[in-house]
Amino acid sequence: MRLIKFFAGGQERYGALEDDRVREIGNDPYVSHPVFVGALPRSKVRPLAPCRPGKIVAVGLNYRDHAAEMGKPLPAEPLLFLKPSTAVIGPEDPIELPLWAGRVDYEAELALVIRTRARRVPRARAAEVILGYTCINDVTARELQRRDVQYTRAKGFDTFAPLGPCIETDVDPADLRVQCFVNGECRQDSRTAQLIFPPDYLIEHISSIMTLEPGDVIACGTPGGVGPLKPGDVVEVRIEGVGSLVNPVIARKQ
Ligand code: MG
Repeated sequence: MRLIKFFAGGQERYGALEDDRVREIGNDPYVSHPVFVGALPRSKVRPLAPCRPGKIVAVGLNYRDHAAEMGKPLPAEPLLFLKPSTAVIGPEDPIELPLWAGRVDYEAELALVIRTRARRVPRARAAEVILGYTCINDVTARELQRRDVQYTRAKGFDTFAPLGPCIETDVDPADLRVQCFVNGECRQDSRTAQLIFPPDYLIEHISSIMTLEPGDVIACGTPGGVGPLKPGDVVEVRIEGVGSLVNPVIARKQ
């Protein structure tokens, strides 16, 4: 199922995205199997960010090619940082560039969404706590990242976490193509088989440190080919079997 959130009748609703329609879900899909209560034409529905994470736990340098282009040795354990939930935007929402901050990069990433509260979950049981997978763009102010050493400011601006469009609940994340396009031109092109620490490893590792809660997101890291965005660009994160996340880029108003 491709789970989305959308706005209708004055409130946010869950739906299942199909080719030409959205089937509305009347219950909480994090708690029990979806109960369908109606359907809308696909053209009438604008997907929102598919979840509202309490936290986004992101992994740095998790692809061999990206570590090489950043001039960093391969990590012996996952490098973790947090992105604030206030950075989340949905599909088609604009990424706002603070032009004073210098270079701002796209980072196409596979994201996993937590289904149920998870604490000290062994790798073999990771699938039990994962609702599904979506696309995230870990937008990064690269010059601030280098200047600050830690990542809070560089990765924490409002709009720096485009998420969506759907949570695919029935995909095997082991070997999916991950791509980023800027204005239709392919800039990143790799596969999740190249991940140093795959999703089940990350669940065990992160849940041994902090409790993960329903709707929390783990951003699995970006492959090689990161590069800058400028106002007027349109950036797409495309993940095989998961979806396509498209956002325009504008200058942030001062
Ligand atoms: Mg990243």
